[in-house]
Amino acid sequence: MKEYIVTNAQVYTQDTNNPWAEAFAVKDGIFTCVGTNDEVRRQAGETAKEYDMGGRFIMPGIVDSHAHIAMSVFLGGDDEDDSMPMYDCKSKKEVLEKLRTLVKKHPFRLFYAMFYGKMEVLAEDPITRDDLDKIVRFRPVILVEEECHSAILNSAALKYFGVREDTEDIAPGLSVYERDESGRLTGMITEMTMVPILSTETPTEKQLRSGITKLISYLISRGVTTIFDAGNMTEEDMIFRTFKAMDEEGRIPVRMFMCHMLWHPDMVPDAIKEFKKYKQKYETDNVRFDTMKMMFDGTQRIHTACMVEPYADTGTCGGTLISEDALLEFMRALNREGIDFHLHTVGEEAVRRVMNCVERLREEGASGEGAPFRITVTCAHDEVLRPEDVQRFQELGIVANFTPSWNGGNCGAAPEVMQNLLGPERGLRTLQSRTVFDTGAVVSFSSDEVELHNMDHWSPFWGMEVGVTRQDPDYGEADADGRKNGQTAPVYAPAAERMTLEQMIEGYTINGARQLGIDDRIGSIEAGKDADFLVLSEDLFAMDPYRLHDVVPERVYIKGKLQSVL
Ligand SMILES: [Zn+2]
Repeated sequence: MKEYIVTNAQVYTQDTNNPWAEAFAVKDGIFTCVGTNDEVRRQAGETAKEYDMGGRFIMPGIVDSHAHIAMSVFLGGDDEDDSMPMYDCKSKKEVLEKLRTLVKKHPFRLFYAMFYGKMEVLAEDPITRDDLDKIVRFRPVILVEEECHSAILNSAALKYFGVREDTEDIAPGLSVYERDESGRLTGMITEMTMVPILSTETPTEKQLRSGITKLISYLISRGVTTIFDAGNMTEEDMIFRTFKAMDEEGRIPVRMFMCHMLWHPDMVPDAIKEFKKYKQKYETDNVRFDTMKMMFDGTQRIHTACMVEPYADTGTCGGTLISEDALLEFMRALNREGIDFHLHTVGEEAVRRVMNCVERLREEGASGEGAPFRITVTCAHDEVLRPEDVQRFQELGIVANFTPSWNGGNCGAAPEVMQNLLGPERGLRTLQSRTVFDTGAVVSFSSDEVELHNMDHWSPFWGMEVGVTRQDPDYGEADADGRKNGQTAPVYAPAAERMTLEQMIEGYTINGARQLGIDDRIGSIEAGKDADFLVLSEDLFAMDPYRLHDVVPERVYIKGKLQSVL
């Protein structure tokens, strides 16, 4: 590739030694010089072509450090799909009414898998299998809740999936087949017991390819140049084979980092063997395998996230996939093999158990009792933390991964809902990404979306706005141009957790690179690094923060190459 120089720009480099520059040179996909117009012109070769940016804002390419590309294609549900007609239901009655209507519309359909919306709708008066049996008796019916962490099945569906009254839970407090006081199945199932349901409709390879292309194209159009795919529950072989083939055909322009995901305790003993098989079989230039992923706990709103102090409304504490001792043993093995570890940890006790293990392994390494600690451990979500644990991310070198788009109200949960769940004090201090950031820990940001019905939520600029404001950009009535404004939305407590734009950019660029162990290659505009950069028509620092969610880069470059729509 020819050498070129970019001049007259406002370059936000994310390089702490040289935060702002006017110009840079790119040769063979690498930044060769970053500085003033004169410096760059002087150092570049005579034949280098010059592009005058007319004062435009330039920043490094974005790292989405916890995304679900293939999983979202598997879960499907684009706009035309009528499998999710229940998003706006406000009560049990409404949900059941909608189900009746749908059954009338498709009387011969074998299966109904629908999203019924938010958990709280049914908190007071839950739907049971008996309610569903009254509407559909002989065909399976499945209602999946919005966060995709639980579902309600009718009796035919329980039978279809082989769930019997004596079927054992996968992990107590976490992945369970809920039972009433008499021990009878209620129809509600949580977390990983969902896997067979979510995998009933495996897309064809052709559908998977087109879905991957659509999602990657969207993310590139919003400035993402590197993606950590945070895992798939089923069909890993098919998914990895597809990514490999697509990369060999030149259809994966971004850097993809894949993982082998563990969601069942029985997967742990063979996990490293499986991981190595995938790495050996499917790794290509742009599709890398460096990370193991574990679904270590669940989610707050169905009480499966693991807590130190019990939930205020149920008195239960949730659970983890494996015990702390088993986790320690597994992490020791990962450290020996040099495989990074990414964990889903929502609750305070789940995070604490990971921290305890890292602390122990670091001590063993330091004293010579064990191997030196050398892997990157990332705790993703971290929605509730014990105050005494906040500092430990920094102390133990654990990466804290957050999804800023949740900061405007934890996936839409009102403060009252959180207080009801966690108690009056704890319910008002969730999603403390600012506090963690300010300790000096590495904090990385991500989309973590699995739904395709509102692509805006995948945009890192949407995340930046919510991270800075803790308000929902989707709030209220749209104006004449169809635009909503988060300025009028309530600020999600605590307001002190609002982050700065500098932090948002750091978390979306260099810190994502740190999480993936490639901060020597990407994450900032510095001589010697890959030339991933975004050209924006507006200066992010000068614009109204309530318009950040609408930002679309004018141009996106990966390794010095302009990306066009795929
Ligand atoms: Zn995720």
